[in-house]
Amino acid sequence: MEPIKGLHHVTAVARDPQRNVDFYRNVLGQRLVKRTVNFDSPDTYHFYFADETGTPGSVLTFFAWPSMKRGVHGNGETNAVAYNVPTGSFGFWQEHLKQNGITPDAIEKRFDQDVLSFSDPDGMRVELIASASKPIAQFWEEGPIPEEYALSGFHSVTLWLDEVKPTADLLINQMGYQATGQEGSRHRFIGDANTMGNIVDIVHRPGKMQAGFGAGSIHHIAFRVPNDEKQLGYRSLLSEAGFQVTPVMDRSYFHSIYFRERGDVLFEIATDTPGFLIDEPADSLGEALKLPEWLEKNRKQIEQSIAPLTLNAIEKVK
Ligand code: ZN
Repeated sequence: MEPIKGLHHVTAVARDPQRNVDFYRNVLGQRLVKRTVNFDSPDTYHFYFADETGTPGSVLTFFAWPSMKRGVHGNGETNAVAYNVPTGSFGFWQEHLKQNGITPDAIEKRFDQDVLSFSDPDGMRVELIASASKPIAQFWEEGPIPEEYALSGFHSVTLWLDEVKPTADLLINQMGYQATGQEGSRHRFIGDANTMGNIVDIVHRPGKMQAGFGAGSIHHIAFRVPNDEKQLGYRSLLSEAGFQVTPVMDRSYFHSIYFRERGDVLFEIATDTPGFLIDEPADSLGEALKLPEWLEKNRKQIEQSIAPLTLNAIEKVK
């Protein structure tokens, strides 16, 4: 099998949809590239935040469930998502986050890179990792953040697990990742290509409490494959290795299969095709509520059951 090159998207849970959009779009400067509903629960929003065009490896999505209780961080989940930011941008981010009510943690070193971590308004862990390499993500010109400081796609995700080996075996033997080092309890695995989101870190936490799912939890992480054929290849390979893999599901913008890895984290494999431009033009991405064809007949009901959403004017940050 062709090795996995990195992440496609990460999906998490928020409570207040307006607060979620205001934070990721207006504060962090991620473009809302798609506004839709949870296909399995169409009375709730599903937002996609990404670079200018929704490049795989930059896509953070949220289900907004206003009545959801807050999650508890623990083992068996993806604990954090990390973005690339340019070196020299931490002063800007510390100040900008504080002005928006978020106090970041002290800067730490991780595998020779500086990391600035904070919790989003729902308690989800977000990390900014200073990277000297040239950005691959497409800068959002209309966004609030100057290009010299802007987030540039995913750097990595961090899984919190009771045991390292079963998940490491999956990453290495089935998915084509390589173990590249260990720093304390953190084990690093790197995907086959030098692209956005090609790193998975496992933090080994033997005997620690299991996570409780809720708002601020990362629901699943999706790895990318170029097309349907490669996805079916992975479906057979993972099934043969004993994983319970779902049938292919049509998520409009990509096709998905899901399975739980041995440490209980939900993994997805998603196709790069057809992408976010399939149902609206690049210049108006995210502005209208998009529904798949089979939900269009319920549009009126759906629009009445979800809270109205305002795309607040972007204030350019200096
Ligand atoms: Zn997904």
